[in-house]
Amino acid sequence: MSVKVVKFGGSSLADANQFRKVADIIKADPERKFVVPSAPGKRYSDDIKVTDMLYSCYELSASGKSISEQFEKIKERYNGIISDLGIELSLQKEFDEIEYCLKAKSGRDYAASRGEYLNGIILANYLGFEFVDAAEVIFFDDNGAFMLDKTIEAIRERVKDLENVVIPGFYGITLNGTIKTFSRGGSDVTGSIVARAVRAKIYENWTDVSGFLVADPRIVDNAKVIKTITYKELRELSYMGATVLHEDAIFPVRTAGIPINIRNTNDPSAEGTMIVSEETGEEINKTTITGIAGKKGFCAINIEKAMMNGEIGFVKKILDILYKNNLSFEHIPSGIDTMTIVLSSASLEGKEEAVISQIRKEIQPDHLEVEHNIALLAVVGRGMYKTRGTAARVFAALSHARINIKMIDQGSSELNIIVGIGESDFEDAIRCIYNMFIEAE
Ligand code: ADP
Ligand code: ASP
Ligand code: MG
Repeated sequence: MSVKVVKFGGSSLADANQFRKVADIIKADPERKFVVPSAPGKRYSDDIKVTDMLYSCYELSASGKSISEQFEKIKERYNGIISDLGIELSLQKEFDEIEYCLKAKSGRDYAASRGEYLNGIILANYLGFEFVDAAEVIFFDDNGAFMLDKTIEAIRERVKDLENVVIPGFYGITLNGTIKTFSRGGSDVTGSIVARAVRAKIYENWTDVSGFLVADPRIVDNAKVIKTITYKELRELSYMGATVLHEDAIFPVRTAGIPINIRNTNDPSAEGTMIVSEETGEEINKTTITGIAGKKGFCAINIEKAMMNGEIGFVKKILDILYKNNLSFEHIPSGIDTMTIVLSSASLEGKEEAVISQIRKEIQPDHLEVEHNIALLAVVGRGMYKTRGTAARVFAALSHARINIKMIDQGSSELNIIVGIGESDFEDAIRCIYNMFIEAE
């Protein structure tokens, strides 16, 4: 029998009512045998995710303060879910052990991981599924790099005689036995790994929106759902801030050709978004652009020097400086006598002065400045390369909205156009491009 892996995000498991919806979804399809839960998320907009509560327990403990009050709130969240579901389950033993380890400063990742761990135990109990701790099967090497082959083998071995399984998302274990998490939103990655390991026919990723939308619904009202998107496009969009799916959730399923289906726990009848391989995506391509996403928090180092173009080794010198300062860049758009390095402001923090003086010394530019508060915006679409005038339309939309463009970059695949704009123009820019392409097409 073919199987499906279903991952439920934090908002899908925020309280007992959401747990019931999740159980209904799982029980509605006997192929939904492998379940990957997140930690309880927000129940209302200014609620706090359990993961964030656990991070603050860690911070408190690290700074020698009491965690009792904060930990009590975490216990209340779980005990509330258990009692509202009416199940026979006590997590007291787990709570005691976790509290002990938090006080003993067991590490930031350990603290965060307990959100998924406890939620997994509750969900497995409620569904009557087997609980498999991610620390038994998801491995990282001692440098913290995820070990795909070892993990796949371990999952296969561990679940081979099991009918229905819950494996908590977000964390695993290093070879030396320390709990380690993926980056935030990482339960999506766990789901993808499990899907690959059990050779799932589909990886369903259940969240609180009816699919991947053309633009962030917090910026564009009633943004349209993208019916089909390719892995590549999705990676571009999620890297650029469309947080619906973790950008690294693509790799494990991609090579195995397992499609991902983004679904809405609060509207299970909606078909959601199918994420497929490039070949499949090609046939069903209709619109010029697939999606728009973006992020704030970038800066640009603008360098100007006459005849820069003819100076052999010029770029190498600059890249060497970035390398020495352990900086990675996002884009390097350049002209004949100018070059810009766009990088995240956070990464440059504390290093700006040193980097600037090194560039000054090394290449003696005619002009050098750092511009802050830049947002990057990506217009992504596999239909772009065969449609003439896409870039012109993007720029027309921005110019019409009187938005000043600071930088333009187009990848060689012609899958995206990246523009740099001021942070204060960010939301307007997304809305005007959305209107230009989606409302108009
Ligand atoms: P989960 O807790 O289920 O993992 P996330 O909060 O990680 O869910 O992701 C879903 C959220 O992503 C949505 O509620 C929405 O606010 C946000 N989001 C940002 N960009 C997009 C987009 N392009 N399409 C859909 N949702 C988006
Ligand atoms: N609970 C973790 C987070 O909040 C992981 C996840 O939700 O995927 O980042
Ligand atoms: Mg998420």
